[in-house]
Amino acid sequence: MLSADPSIDPTDPFQRTAQTFPQLSEEMAERIGRYGSEELLEHGTPLFTRGDRNADFFLVLDGAIEIFEQDDDSIKVFTTHSKHQFTGELTLFNEREILVSGRAHQATRVVRVRRSDFRRMMQSEPDIAEIVMRAYILRRVGLIRHSQGAATLIGPGHSADTLRLQQFLSRNGYPLRLVDTEHDAEAGGFLERLSLGAAELPAVVLSGHRVLRNPTLAVLADKLGLTEPFDHATVFDLAVVGAGPAGLAAAVYAASEGLQTIVVESIAPGGQAGTSSKIENYLGFPTGVSGMALAGRAQVQAQKFGARLAISRAVTRVDCDVTPFELRLEDDSTVRARAIVIASGARYRKLDVPGFERFEGQGIYYAATAMEASLCRDAEVIVVGGGNSAGQAAVFLAGSVRHVHVLVRGAGLAATMSDYLVQRIANASHITLHVHSEIVSLEGERGLDRVTWRNRRSTEETTRPVTAIFAMIGAEPNTAWVDGCLDLDPQGFVVTGAKAGQGADSPYMTSRPGIYAVGDVRSGSVKRVASGVGEGSVVVQAVHRFLHPSPE
Ligand SMILES: Cc1cc2nc3c(=O)[nH]c(=O)nc-3n(C[C@H](O)[C@H](O)[C@H](O)COP(=O)(O)OP(=O)(O)OC[C@H]3O[C@@H](n4cnc5c(N)ncnc54)[C@H](O)[C@@H]3O)c2cc1C
Repeated sequence: MLSADPSIDPTDPFQRTAQTFPQLSEEMAERIGRYGSEELLEHGTPLFTRGDRNADFFLVLDGAIEIFEQDDDSIKVFTTHSKHQFTGELTLFNEREILVSGRAHQATRVVRVRRSDFRRMMQSEPDIAEIVMRAYILRRVGLIRHSQGAATLIGPGHSADTLRLQQFLSRNGYPLRLVDTEHDAEAGGFLERLSLGAAELPAVVLSGHRVLRNPTLAVLADKLGLTEPFDHATVFDLAVVGAGPAGLAAAVYAASEGLQTIVVESIAPGGQAGTSSKIENYLGFPTGVSGMALAGRAQVQAQKFGARLAISRAVTRVDCDVTPFELRLEDDSTVRARAIVIASGARYRKLDVPGFERFEGQGIYYAATAMEASLCRDAEVIVVGGGNSAGQAAVFLAGSVRHVHVLVRGAGLAATMSDYLVQRIANASHITLHVHSEIVSLEGERGLDRVTWRNRRSTEETTRPVTAIFAMIGAEPNTAWVDGCLDLDPQGFVVTGAKAGQGADSPYMTSRPGIYAVGDVRSGSVKRVASGVGEGSVVVQAVHRFLHPSPE
């Protein structure tokens, strides 16, 4: 997840080690001392234990602190902090359960900085904060890369449920050890030891040999300690629904400007962008940035400023007739807030073909960028759809793949696609248009190998060795939960600004004052990462105006 830092050269292990476990200067150690208190620890004194939610920050003055994982009677030491090195990881910015334990390795003198003082220190000492933040990001990357402090996921690698759990863990930056029962030699021993039958897979094994059999994401998040507890009686200044680029941007700006902010996200931070392995057109990243890296950083940034994140809970309803507004979550709990930013985005329409989930990301794509094109160079591909996005995709892909089949259900493209694209498709020797057509079956062992489509008029079926399908059949907004509360356009996107009768105040205000919509979920929005981030950033000004109206 959190990787693409241009200042970090991944080929230089010494630089990375020095940045992951930095040694602070005497002067910095002295400054840190002002935020905490000195303690003398006997050999073996525990400082924090895996599963704790409120570990403090420790700086070693003399002696050493050992960071380890304990399983049954065996102890695996990950690292030992010595003079002027410090403990901690990204969990110091949130209240998730920590993944490792720490104890004094010998008689040791430390500065203990309590969590509230740690936040103060991070805000007041920018040079120290930069070193600490980089170290914490690299430590999490290290835990993920080396599966340290990990949950073990056991199951058939190609099952949709295994993929569901794997995606959830990796998109939430949780270290994971995958035991693929189809391929790993050690799988049999594991299953026997845990008395797990094939019907109970996939299963997640947590520390202490607790086994979750094919859990829901909410149960998994709770058991892993990813769900952060919060006081449901709290009235937040702002609740943001959705942690895609737009929601995270709103959270960063709102929290940094002093609003008490909570973000509610049903799956994992990043939204659709989190599923993009390389975003090439986001300003400032000339070599591209993975959606997860961008989202991971934005999440830490929001939490650094104090925003709360409630992960793995979808909002199912909003009560907008009460003050403060009330959001009802999947588990029936509620979040109350004086203002709401809706950033629940959209999801690309799925193909209605049996087994399509199995090939998502492994043959079925919802975007045709250079990244996807490179995955199917010289192959035969299908673009499904008759709109401009499908036309652009077909023309773009024709430059690098062997052949593009464009499938539409209608009689042609003229009614739905710009003429210049219709002409290019007609003139391209590498593109064939198949009208009245729909896909009926997908085949492939690991990825997609073969696709069959049927002409709905003639019922004739065609099977081709296609390895990629680009589904460009429009996006559906995630707005079922606001139904009845706000004005939506005919496609279900949230109407804002002048069309919602709110033009003068903010282009993002919905038909309900105090509730705003930004990013892909907003009617008429440009569906891009940068525009979502822009809208999420500027909407906060309008939220301030709503919460603190200036006297007439
Ligand atoms: C594969 C792919 C590649 C892309 N590549 C690019 C690119 O290269 N460049 C570019 O500019 N754009 C790209 N896009 C488009 C871009 O990702 C989107 O425009 C952007 O993510 C929109 O951001 P958003 O925050 O508005 O919504 P989303 O990213 O859709 O995020 C919405 C979030 O809300 C959550 N949510 C939904 N409903 C609820 C609910 N009821 N309760 C709680 N949470 C909820 C979702 O889980 C999601 O995390 C790509 C999109 C895809 C799918």
